[in-house]
Amino acid sequence: MDNKVKDYLQAFGVLEATQRFLSKPQRQFIGGAWVEASDGATSEVIEPSTEAVLTRIPMGTAADLDRAVQAARAQFDGGPWSQLKPLERERLLHRLADLIERNGDELAQIESIDMGKSVEQARAVDIQGTIDTFRYFAGWASKIHGRTVEPSLPGNYLAYTRKEPVGVVGVIVPWNFPLQTMAWKLGAALATGCTVVVKPAELTSLSALRFAELVEQAGIPAGVINIVTGRGSVVGTAMSSHPGIDKLSFTGSTPVGCSVGKASMDQMKRLTLELGGKSPVIVFADADIPAAAQAVANGVFFNSGQVCDAGTRAYIERSIYPQFLQALAEYTATLKIAPGLDPDCFISPMVSRKQQQSVLGYIALGKEEGAQLYYGGEPVAGPGFYVQPTIFANCRNDMRVVQEEIFGPVLVTQPFDSQEEALALANDSAFGLAAALYSNDLGRVHGLIPQLRAGTVYVNAHSTLDPSMPFGGYKQSGYGKDMGAEQLEFLLETKAVWITLP
Ligand code: NAD
Repeated sequence: MDNKVKDYLQAFGVLEATQRFLSKPQRQFIGGAWVEASDGATSEVIEPSTEAVLTRIPMGTAADLDRAVQAARAQFDGGPWSQLKPLERERLLHRLADLIERNGDELAQIESIDMGKSVEQARAVDIQGTIDTFRYFAGWASKIHGRTVEPSLPGNYLAYTRKEPVGVVGVIVPWNFPLQTMAWKLGAALATGCTVVVKPAELTSLSALRFAELVEQAGIPAGVINIVTGRGSVVGTAMSSHPGIDKLSFTGSTPVGCSVGKASMDQMKRLTLELGGKSPVIVFADADIPAAAQAVANGVFFNSGQVCDAGTRAYIERSIYPQFLQALAEYTATLKIAPGLDPDCFISPMVSRKQQQSVLGYIALGKEEGAQLYYGGEPVAGPGFYVQPTIFANCRNDMRVVQEEIFGPVLVTQPFDSQEEALALANDSAFGLAAALYSNDLGRVHGLIPQLRAGTVYVNAHSTLDPSMPFGGYKQSGYGKDMGAEQLEFLLETKAVWITLP
């Protein structure tokens, strides 16, 4: 660990447990064993606020992935995991949730230091969301069942359906909510009786490795959960085409999701894709303006805009446009830009130099395209991959900054004159992950909800997520759902059984 990172951890008094974990050599978790990459390769992990080396992680290989799949297959095909009674799976998932809860502060610090995000947000959202997800799906383990059917066919039959776990699930996750996104996929998979192989994002693998220690401690049998760290182009592609994987559950960008989907189809793997977004926000003049301005700013700048369903395109009724922009800017000015461990941090650094440069590139593009830079738009002096929260005014839907996912703290705005125009502008996108409405007119809100082509609609709110509610996109934002009872359907096969009765 570089001295700059050591100083940073010391300045904010991180837990001894966190320091211990970050100081030790990192290993993959395969078949219950802690192993290096098969060729010994490792890669640096950079801490985003100091830009210094935090640690190294193994760069797994296709051979590592294959060993992990064999371990997961053995547990699924032969047990004991697949033979456990549902209540026993439920009990183990609760035990895992208990351990995550007990180590929640440490996990939040690891997530913050690895990804750069606010430690307070990590504790309240990422870690709490992880605990809640495992608890919610623990309860489902004993509530999965088929149905008996009364067929009209001549003859005397007992006809019924069985719900059976889909098998070994390959899980690929991005870097913005590393632990929580993994939990969304694992909770439901484990509840149904599947086994899993996880590939965390190469930028943020540490919380998954600490989580694996808790998996071991919880007494979940070796091979049920395997963590293979490494590059998407190596471990991810090997996973997409591995014949031992029955289902792929991917969260990440739309282009990578497309290539994962195509590779999966060659073997008819089951598929869930949670992809990118460019979620519209419509603010009507009858909304509570100060409250809406705060919610819109939080909805786009939370996690420094590195949120798939961030409300990044704001359409604002013309009569309140100048006033709303001013309220947005005034509130945004109160959001502290700071390293993630600062308890008051709201705007943390981007995850990497590459991401910072990409966001700054989009800000330059917005200016070239003729959008008016209304607020922010600059990097921040000193070390750290920061970008100021940025607001563009008077944008048009044909601009690339309005159509493409920037994945940073950038809000594009424009005025509208009628409800019909606002709806058309909101739906004019290749994406369809989420949409938000700000209005106190219930009739209008209920009329618009069915017309918005998005997997989630928030009203007078943004990014309110809960394990009981399904999350997933329309159009190029994805395929299938994570969370909610709906997710279970994507992890279960349905078997039809016909028995001729005498
Ligand atoms: P990414 O697509 O670059 O990477 C996601 C994961 O895929 C990483 O683990 C990466 O290593 C792996 N990967 C890369 N190339 C691969 C390949 N060829 N085959 C298999 N796996 C490969 O995305 P990212 O930059 O890590 O994350 C940001 C993106 O994720 C954004 O587009 C964001 O909107 C999206 N996202 C979506 C949701 C959702 O629920 N819809 C949630 C979070 C993030």
